[in-house]
Amino acid sequence: MARHLEANCQLCRRCGDKLMLKGNRCMTPKCVMERRHKTATVGSRGRRRRVSERGTQLIEKQKARYIYGLYERQFRRFYGISAKQPGITGDNLKVMLERRLDNVVYRLGLADSRPLARQLVLHGHIMVNGHRVNVPSALVSEGDAVNVREASLKKAYFKKVAEEIKSKAIPIWLILDRAALSGKVVALPVVDETVAQFNGKSIVEYYSR
Ligand code: SF4
Repeated sequence: MARHLEANCQLCRRCGDKLMLKGNRCMTPKCVMERRHKTATVGSRGRRRRVSERGTQLIEKQKARYIYGLYERQFRRFYGISAKQPGITGDNLKVMLERRLDNVVYRLGLADSRPLARQLVLHGHIMVNGHRVNVPSALVSEGDAVNVREASLKKAYFKKVAEEIKSKAIPIWLILDRAALSGKVVALPVVDETVAQFNGKSIVEYYSR
């Protein structure tokens, strides 16, 4: 997950949508998107600004990029691979993005945002199949075990996570041993509304021009 120089909330404002980039804060009234109405599509005098079809496609593409924290070049590469796979390109893209290790750490509930999950991976706290992996963009596969490094379990952060994770929901394609903070990928990510906060079809149309 690449770092974006703009503040996370500014990215939400730009897309006119809640991209949930700040973890638990996004669920509170402190979220600026709770206070503002679709800022990206409203003009300075409160009138709705018309967004062209191309503009809508661009917003959907940017939303996906910001949610998963990819630079344009990385995202374009993911798109290119997805387009060559059989099936629906937009769905393939969503599955690939969900398979990123930082996303899986986030989905398992080990971090409350993808940016934080990226930090955990970069700092070497995460193991995949018994090996330390510090590459957030690494793609997990069906059957992979993802867990917190034993030494890291003693850290105050993971002790707190162990308490909080008891009430967190896990996607059906993952299983989690909450006591051991140890997860497993039991299937490929399922593309549904919990995965997709963006329109894959619009992204395909954007790149197809
Ligand atoms: Fe900021 Fe999160 Fe709200 Fe987006 S959803 S504006 S990142 S608090």
